[in-house]
Amino acid sequence: MIERESASPPASNVIPPTPLTLPDLELPTTSVPMIEPAPIPKPLGDTVEFVVRRNDTLDRIFRQLKVSLGDLASIRDLPGVRESLDRLRPGDTITVVHDEGLLQALTRRISETEVLSVTRSEEGFAAEVLATPLDVREAYAHGTIESSLFVAARAAGVSPEIILALANDIFGWEIDFALDIRAGDRFSIVYEQKFRDGEYVGDGRILAADFINNGKSHRAIYFESKDKQVADYFSPEGRSMRRQFLRAPLDFTRISSNFNPRRRHPILNTIRAHKGVDYAAARGTVIKAAGDGRVDFVGTKGGYGRVVILEHGGGISTLYGHMSRFASGLRRGQRVKQGATIGFVGSSGAATGPHLHYEYRVSGVHKNPRTVPLPDAAPISDSYKAEFQSHSRQILASLDKVQDSAVAAVPSN
Ligand SMILES: [Zn+2]
Repeated sequence: MIERESASPPASNVIPPTPLTLPDLELPTTSVPMIEPAPIPKPLGDTVEFVVRRNDTLDRIFRQLKVSLGDLASIRDLPGVRESLDRLRPGDTITVVHDEGLLQALTRRISETEVLSVTRSEEGFAAEVLATPLDVREAYAHGTIESSLFVAARAAGVSPEIILALANDIFGWEIDFALDIRAGDRFSIVYEQKFRDGEYVGDGRILAADFINNGKSHRAIYFESKDKQVADYFSPEGRSMRRQFLRAPLDFTRISSNFNPRRRHPILNTIRAHKGVDYAAARGTVIKAAGDGRVDFVGTKGGYGRVVILEHGGGISTLYGHMSRFASGLRRGQRVKQGATIGFVGSSGAATGPHLHYEYRVSGVHKNPRTVPLPDAAPISDSYKAEFQSHSRQILASLDKVQDSAVAAVPSN
């Protein structure tokens, strides 16, 4: 049973959204004066909404619209305008008002919370940055996995971005999303939704999450200290969710056996035989460095085919075999960061089909990568403990309500 509540009026067994206590959004500094939202002036002329395509420049756009390039030069000369004007991304919308090719006004969004507005006045052009603040609301979702995490997320009305954040940024060190997900696993999340003028514009951050994997509950809280020195996910006890190694060093979204409740993992039975884990995945799936380290070997080695070995310090090394190709430019001695792409899944060497063969060794001794205890990152420091605890009490209360409502929503038959 999957159900989702957002800011809409709650059903009887569902908690009302708690009032927001989010910090005000910080706006980037700019030399253009910031003013309160005001009606954007509507001068006479033709209004054209132009959607930027790849390789467009303002010169090209003005030429195409037959608007004065002299006017473009004038507005570029306004203090602080050039940078926010010229940085175009495909899909941006630029609204131009012109009268017989003379520019009267130009507006474009320059950030999630700001619009640049240029208008012609008697003294020439004037530019201002209009604040268009976002309204960030708390939303809640919960789902039960029946066939896959993504199907459950879609049914719960959760965007793929939110689910990826849940798997990669929060629980990616604790749970192997490629091999550990089971039917009946459940998630509950408290997250942000962003609105502008009452219109939904996208999801923000996950504020708290609970993932019940194979009967075991994993919980995480996003904590940002008032002085902004700390901003990360922690367990309710204040332990960082990060580890020195990822549990599954590849993009789990392309695991072919991502989930099949009937299938026994033949891999598990063969761990002892070949001292690693095999992740069956589509050819070309991104393989990531499990932890920060240095490339010790990149090349071809017997049955491993194209293989990368990373040294991580403390006697730990990791090995990634059967690659189709290496990340471009990867070379021996190079430093890599955790999560960096080092290669792509293939079936080079002695492989019957495309898969990643992954090994984790401590002082040369193979450990089971799926169960080896992974060293923790630093816990919350004492100086932030009180602040963390008061925040976590509050957000966990919200999370508990989401879970309670999930339980209440399960039919009793
Ligand atoms: Zn293998």
